[in-house]
Amino acid sequence: MTATATRVLVLNSGSSSVKYQLIDMNDGTRLAVGLVERIGEQTSRLAHTPLAAGGDKRETEGAIADHDAALKAVAAELAADGLGLDSPQLAAIGHRVVHGGLKFTEPTVIDDAVLKEIERLVPVAPLHNPANITGIRTAQAMRPDLPQVAVFDTAFHATMPEYAARYAIDVETADAHRIRRYGFHGTSHAYVSRKTAALLGKDPSEVNVIVLHLGNGASASAVAGGRCVDTSMGLTPLEGLVMGTRSGDIDPAVTFHLKRVAGMSTDEIDGLLNKKSGLIGLCGDNDMREIRRRIDEGDERAELAFDIYIHRLKKYIGAYSAVLGRVDAVAFTAGVGENAAPVREAAVAGLEEMGMAVDASLNAVRSDEPRLISPEYARVAVAVVPTDEELEIAQQTYALVNA
Ligand code: AMP
Repeated sequence: MTATATRVLVLNSGSSSVKYQLIDMNDGTRLAVGLVERIGEQTSRLAHTPLAAGGDKRETEGAIADHDAALKAVAAELAADGLGLDSPQLAAIGHRVVHGGLKFTEPTVIDDAVLKEIERLVPVAPLHNPANITGIRTAQAMRPDLPQVAVFDTAFHATMPEYAARYAIDVETADAHRIRRYGFHGTSHAYVSRKTAALLGKDPSEVNVIVLHLGNGASASAVAGGRCVDTSMGLTPLEGLVMGTRSGDIDPAVTFHLKRVAGMSTDEIDGLLNKKSGLIGLCGDNDMREIRRRIDEGDERAELAFDIYIHRLKKYIGAYSAVLGRVDAVAFTAGVGENAAPVREAAVAGLEEMGMAVDASLNAVRSDEPRLISPEYARVAVAVVPTDEELEIAQQTYALVNA
């Protein structure tokens, strides 16, 4: 790496998509951002915005066969703006990797052994890790000389005490199959808990925060003095809160019942709980904007779905208040948490005895900045803290390659 290498390319490779951002670490400026969608289909789409050049979003449609072709297309877009992957200013590529198991609790420079271990974790993250691996291999082939860093979604949760991470099942079986609570969205929980402390003018070590990451996927975490002590997602991102298409918590016996009584296969049950449950299963929509619109029109199914979503959220706020003992802040983040004022209002309604309240006019403010929405008298700060997983990945990557 040269002294002028201050840029990090962040890659988030999903099963049929690649999200990317090129960030200048001098000041966190986004030089370019983009997304390739529907990889492997005839109707793939690449949307690229060259922010540094002040240019408009460029969109191209047409078949992109695989991740290799997708990254080559991204590299060509970047090169067209003078930001090509061959630039000496590029310090590293940071990859989001969903599952790091027990081994990876820190950002890690990727070599063959690391890649093998990420592969070994495929059985516990069958939807995510294979796509992450493909993205890494493709990027390595394009810039074999450049440090490539894996930043794991599970890492922030590695500090959970054993009694929070272990399920109450036979220990030998659990250990043989590495079954335990790993937690996900860790990059976001880490970033948002730190930002919340900053909003309160405190060091992260001084505050206890409940982070509610409410996007299409959703998870809660209890963060005590900067360290995660519990989180709602488990072995996989299916457990916990009601999500856009995932059930969250459910009696595990429902799965046996579906198999024995409804005659469903394991894959069908997996599809039901991951893709046809949560808000979409309850009311046919997974977008909170649409659900609120339907509620305003008097739609009872949408209202029930909303109430179930809020009830689960409240249960986690209560549970994590007990786990933390003292709560300094509740922070809402991600698509729903940052934008849906009615969700924030309803989740905190009735919790005044616990020191939590939302001020209606502060809650109605729309902003990209971290902000408090609780009234001054409230003992617990309620905050909206926009997440920035890409910046966090870039910062962790850059810190590691400069260490
Ligand atoms: P994420 O996974 O963090 O990108 O969040 C995506 C979800 O955020 C969408 O499915 C919507 O439910 C929700 N969302 C985004 N914008 C809004 C908005 N303005 N109001 C309510 N919900 C929103």
